[in-house]
Amino acid sequence: MTPQEHLIDGYRQFRRDAYASQVAAYSRLAAGQQPNTMIVACCDSRVDPATIFAAGPGELFVVRNVANLVPPFTDDPFHHGTSAALEFAVENLKVDQIVVMGHGDCGGIQACMEAGHGKPASYFVGPWVEIAAPARDQVMMTESQSTEIEQRRELERAAILLSLDNLKTFPFVREAMEARGLKLEGAWFSVAEGALYWLDRESREFRMVPAE
Ligand SMILES: [Zn+2]
Repeated sequence: MTPQEHLIDGYRQFRRDAYASQVAAYSRLAAGQQPNTMIVACCDSRVDPATIFAAGPGELFVVRNVANLVPPFTDDPFHHGTSAALEFAVENLKVDQIVVMGHGDCGGIQACMEAGHGKPASYFVGPWVEIAAPARDQVMMTESQSTEIEQRRELERAAILLSLDNLKTFPFVREAMEARGLKLEGAWFSVAEGALYWLDRESREFRMVPAE
């Protein structure tokens, strides 16, 4: 089976199963979307938010980028895909919460870590993952005794906290937080365990969510 045939096969399965059971929902959604949650997730093929949260069509507004990073607000004319998605979610869809969801074994975070050790970064990924540089430098300083894997896991989580701070640099995010209680949340998914960890705001620790 070619990669294309594999996709078409999956599409036919979707038509038979998921679509067939949700025809009414799709028909209703044709008039517009009203998701109440935005998720910033990684491009990684193992961490699809709709799968992890068992979400149907219209439930999640998702932007995925390498290492699920939110850049700080900048006032320039360049191409800001993640910022554009944030703006649309907050200003137009008026979502109630934004969840930054990281994950274990993240290649983007690994690249950021390696750049910290002097390994030359690739053309686009390198500058992009430098968004997490302040968190990386902190991790390398405080976790210098840890193994590489422990340091990467630490950065996967520290980068989520940094992205949550960066979210607040967007004027429309701050306004929505004050005016209508927009919430910012952090989560981290362990691919190895299939387990979700949720950020506890007060302790800034990630706690495993009971699976039942
Ligand atoms: Zn990743």
